Amino acid sequence: VAEVAAAERVVAELREACAAPPARLNDVAAAMEAEMRAGLREEGGSKIKMIISYVDNLPTGNEEGFFYALDLGGTNFRVLRVQLAGKEKRVAKRESKEVSIPPHLMSGNASELFGFIASALAKVIAEEGRNDVFQDEQRELGFTFSFPVRQTSIASGTLIKWTKAFSIDDAVGEDVVAELQMAMEKHGVDMRVSALINDTVGTLAAGRYNDEDVVIGVILGTGSNAAYVEEASAIPKFEGELPKSGNMVINTEWGNFYSSCLPITEYDQALDEESLNPGEQIFEKLISGMYLGEIVRRVLLKIASQSTLFGKVNHTKLKTRFILRTPDISAMHHDETADLRVVAEKLADNLKIKDTSLETRKMVVEICDIVTSRSARLAAAGIVGILRKIGRAVPGDERRSVIAIDGGLFEHYPEFRQCLESTLVELLGEEASRSLVVKLTKDGSGLGAALIAAAHSQYQ
Ligand code: ADP
Ligand code: MG
Repeated sequence: VAEVAAAERVVAELREACAAPPARLNDVAAAMEAEMRAGLREEGGSKIKMIISYVDNLPTGNEEGFFYALDLGGTNFRVLRVQLAGKEKRVAKRESKEVSIPPHLMSGNASELFGFIASALAKVIAEEGRNDVFQDEQRELGFTFSFPVRQTSIASGTLIKWTKAFSIDDAVGEDVVAELQMAMEKHGVDMRVSALINDTVGTLAAGRYNDEDVVIGVILGTGSNAAYVEEASAIPKFEGELPKSGNMVINTEWGNFYSSCLPITEYDQALDEESLNPGEQIFEKLISGMYLGEIVRRVLLKIASQSTLFGKVNHTKLKTRFILRTPDISAMHHDETADLRVVAEKLADNLKIKDTSLETRKMVVEICDIVTSRSARLAAAGIVGILRKIGRAVPGDERRSVIAIDGGLFEHYPEFRQCLESTLVELLGEEASRSLVVKLTKDGSGLGAALIAAAHSQYQ
């Protein structure tokens, strides 16, 4: 009984520390909005970089021709080739190839990584039909590179830092387009990188291609980030001539958002300290798929150290970092069997925890719920911050506003998605949320990049 009480205390403390009631979320949204303004004012004005993407035109649907996209940012990278056929026919053809990145390349050196990518590109080109490409035109590529980059134009930018599982020191500060272009030349790939974008910007573009009311793109996958359409005149740090469209897509890099009003636990602190990038990407570490499973593991480890509910700690795998992944906690959270069989299986298969009681399994589900709800609610608060910044879905605004969201966490974790959507309504109110639409927008980092490449083609 004392055992159970100790475990319940851990869960109660977790619930308390993760609490994100509306008042707190409003503070988070306000802080997000304030940080956005500070980041737009001057370079380095905020922890969130508010990167000028140089994308001042989003796709209209009229784009035509063959375009390529390269998506690098998660565990896999993808090469995509599309044929755009104008307003009526849209995407007439689409081929893609996914390659997983050997882990050693994620922390090796830049030339190895880009060489690996270029050789994959070379293979795709070797396999394609001859008459698909106009003989006298160079192939054009949109490069989705989902790490913070300081852009200087639509097709160049230097890497500020790596995030997620990447850490290649000699690439930091380098122009990633130049590195890719160099690697492509070495591998005999004749292709021009016509746009360097972030996956959030791509998601925004792909969303807009299908729905002209899309104003925000959000990634909730391995990492988390958001991009939105800003008025160019509302960006004090923007130098040079204002774009004709009057608009500029801003990549917020909200993953690095921090505010003292964020609900942060001892588990988050320890996770951060032991991470590849301590002190950075705090918002991302609270909400994105790379970390949710790991937070849950840390809570379970704490319970195991204070009780025998999971047996002897050293007989389990609870001490192995990142052994519990977000898809696992999603499966446990979603377990609809009466005896929580899926939870039992996951605990046994992933953590070598056997013979748990139903009560203990229920507790595990509750922990998943606490960690995931906090994540989804914080993500919703971030979105509300952006909506307020651009005066959308606020009282008096009647326009339809669409938010394009991509990423495995949003796509494959129904409890997360429901919680995010209901929290938006909770924060914005019934009235304002009626004109708000959240749309799963897959393939922003692929199709979106190809679309932006098309919009910035040298032949148009
Ligand atoms: P990336 O962010 O790497 O580009 P995705 O958008 O496909 O790739 O997101 C992959 C991430 O989504 C995984 O790292 C994982 O955290 C999360 N994810 C994948 N499947 C699930 C699932 N079934 N439930 C919850 N999260 C998932
Ligand atoms: Mg992705």
